[in-house]
Amino acid sequence: MIPVFEPDFGEEEIAAVVAALRRGEISGSFGTAITDFEEGFAAFADCKYGVAVTSGTTALHLAVAALDLKPGDEVLLSSSTNIATALAIIYANAVPVPVDSERETWNLDLDLIEGLITPRTRAIIPVHLFGHPVDMDRLNQIAKKHNLVVIEDCAEAHGAKCRGRVVGSFGDMNCFSFYANKVITTGEGGMVTTNDAALAERLRLLRNLAFTQPRYWHERAGFNFRMTGFQAAFGVAQLKKIDTIIEKKRSVARKYSRALAGVLGLQLPAEKDWAFNVYWMYALIVGRDYPLSRNQLAAHLKARGVDTRTFFCPMNQQPCLKERPGYRAVACPVADEIWETGLYLPSSTTLTDDQISTVCDEIARAASVAKV
Ligand SMILES: *Cc1c(COP(=O)(O)O)cnc(C)c1O
Repeated sequence: MIPVFEPDFGEEEIAAVVAALRRGEISGSFGTAITDFEEGFAAFADCKYGVAVTSGTTALHLAVAALDLKPGDEVLLSSSTNIATALAIIYANAVPVPVDSERETWNLDLDLIEGLITPRTRAIIPVHLFGHPVDMDRLNQIAKKHNLVVIEDCAEAHGAKCRGRVVGSFGDMNCFSFYANKVITTGEGGMVTTNDAALAERLRLLRNLAFTQPRYWHERAGFNFRMTGFQAAFGVAQLKKIDTIIEKKRSVARKYSRALAGVLGLQLPAEKDWAFNVYWMYALIVGRDYPLSRNQLAAHLKARGVDTRTFFCPMNQQPCLKERPGYRAVACPVADEIWETGLYLPSSTTLTDDQISTVCDEIARAASVAKV
């Protein structure tokens, strides 16, 4: 089976972890691996501060918690996303309000935002889906006009750029994941980046159970979202390779797009002229003109040793959100449609040209066999 993803790490990461262990960096409180990783990654994301945490989910949880929302406050978010984006909002007793996708990049449709804003809307969480950036220049203009806090969900888009400026530097706070299949990994892990010193301080406080003076006196209910030291050391080694990893991802995408360009009925991933897409996963839509349905194509590929995944089930359909107080039903027809028709292909940086050809040949063959 060609897996959808295979982790890409080597002796450098292993040596970095062993060295951190030999220095006694079991937790983050001893040694420099955490601050090295935070400073290095924040610089990569063109931010002054980085706060390392245990996952992308806890990065989002922490960022939303730092806003001190009131119950019933509303937060807009991309409908097509990992459930973690919405969970961060409901953990703060706020109401997630999904914004439908647009058809070209599958990111949230910026034209819909103003129609969804109410007096209770406090923040917006755009997701750079599959590595294509949201138009953050335009999103920030809308947010500024309506006084909304912006939290970028960059879990799938480390290094993606909007008009030459890297994602994770546009929002008030920006959340990254270092889960095993993300652009770079620490196994599990995440980070919030920000340029705001006061926010960075609040994030650090809340990450560490809100310890203040005197010790064991807690003004606020914090969290333990602390990253482990030897994971951060792994992250530092990964960060050294990030430009190469992104170039490999873009190379995989170029090869797929070239080979699949002639297959009728597929919508291939976009790269807008202002965008730098890191192609975290090579995603496509199986359209009406393709002879098989998305599910039929996925089954055909699986039977021939090629694993795939669907797009996300959108936030407007999630039972765990519908049952929450204050739930706002918002129709998201495009997000619904791409959940039914979207698919992503094996996207490891370790894919060989032969493997890419196999996947593309099977997609083309499935179409021609189905026709006769
Ligand atoms: C992966 C992902 C997350 C969650 O990150 P974890 O590290 O798995 O907790 C959040 N948002 C998006 C868009 C993701 O793809």
